[in-house]
Amino acid sequence: MEYDERDALFSRLQLKKGSKEYDNYYSLNPGNEEPDMKLKMKLFSNKSTGKGMPDKEKSGGKPSGNPFMKIGGDTSDHEYASAQLMQEYQRIASEVDDQAYNMAVNSRKREIPAETMSILIKEFVKLSGIDVVGITKVEPGDLYTHRGFNKKSYEYGEKVEHRFEYAIVFAAPLELDYINRGPNKELLMATMLGYAKSSELAARLVMYIKDLGYDAITDSSTSYESPLSFLGEKAGLGQMGRCNAVVNPKYGNRTKFAAVHTNLPLVEDEMIDFGLDEFCEICRCCEDNCPSKAISHESSVSEDGRKYWEHDATSCMEMWARMGTSCGVCMSACPFSQGVDEQLVLRMKGDKNVMDEILENHREKYGKRNYEKQPLAFMPKK
Ligand code: SF4
Ligand code: SF4
Repeated sequence: MEYDERDALFSRLQLKKGSKEYDNYYSLNPGNEEPDMKLKMKLFSNKSTGKGMPDKEKSGGKPSGNPFMKIGGDTSDHEYASAQLMQEYQRIASEVDDQAYNMAVNSRKREIPAETMSILIKEFVKLSGIDVVGITKVEPGDLYTHRGFNKKSYEYGEKVEHRFEYAIVFAAPLELDYINRGPNKELLMATMLGYAKSSELAARLVMYIKDLGYDAITDSSTSYESPLSFLGEKAGLGQMGRCNAVVNPKYGNRTKFAAVHTNLPLVEDEMIDFGLDEFCEICRCCEDNCPSKAISHESSVSEDGRKYWEHDATSCMEMWARMGTSCGVCMSACPFSQGVDEQLVLRMKGDKNVMDEILENHREKYGKRNYEKQPLAFMPKK
């Protein structure tokens, strides 16, 4: 299975009409041009966002950023302050990432057994507040074949080289209180904070590893090396779910992933199978709650040993444009995001009765899904 980052929707949406990249991409993928342009118009001109097109787009440069977070001149101070909270976090993450990228590798290489180093690395991640972490070997097929748009100085279309043997992958959990208010600004805040937290930690880990005398790079929202979900699955963080995201037994799909690729000798973790594939067959909570029907009704498909569910990213993003914010309803809908009793998770695989019990408990407690109507106290009133 090969993944080209240029095919990812977020890369396509950043192509500027008339540019060399735009002409190249759509001459090879003519079927994508019309739906992409329609989506772009909806996203960046959506009246419900009230913000219009991003500044860089207006000025003819590469568009960037989240169209729902643009602050217009009519923004209230309160709205500005809450929006800036996440922008500030992201700015810091990006600065630390630059620092890590530019840091030289220490010429004195520390010789530490792979077992010890793996424990230390996981401790580093856990002490930084993220308790879902694993290690996997990186095969060339795990990486994107070519780069799309990114925030580093890589060229669009550049080949992604396989340079590192290991990836340390971790998942920042998103605040449940925020997620259960989606689709709303709270959910958007949690998502952006999750990206920022995981990116910043990846950058700090790169600096730690470089100081030990080994090269390392981040694979995060600052600049991706891989589609990350499959690396996360290989590192034992969870299993791909119907919702098109990795579902972790403790946090469900309300996480944001980042990774560090390195040649520091490490010990890889095993993949986990807690029976999610079978559970997703009967659960369908994400599918039933998805307002855009982007989530597949079919069974999972298998390709090159990887299981996944088809997902209609364009329909999903069109819904975001209509809502004027990121949706994320599939996160609060997933029983594992709300928390499933650990003992039931351990007994779930291959046991239909346990799966039924988990679903019954979930429906009894939350109905169709857990949705909190009241905005968080610090949010501006509508
Ligand atoms: S974010 Fe919303 S529209 Fe997109 S897949 Fe999830 S539930 Fe569906
Ligand atoms: S909501 Fe249900 S079907 Fe969807 S990913 Fe979670 S467990 Fe699977």
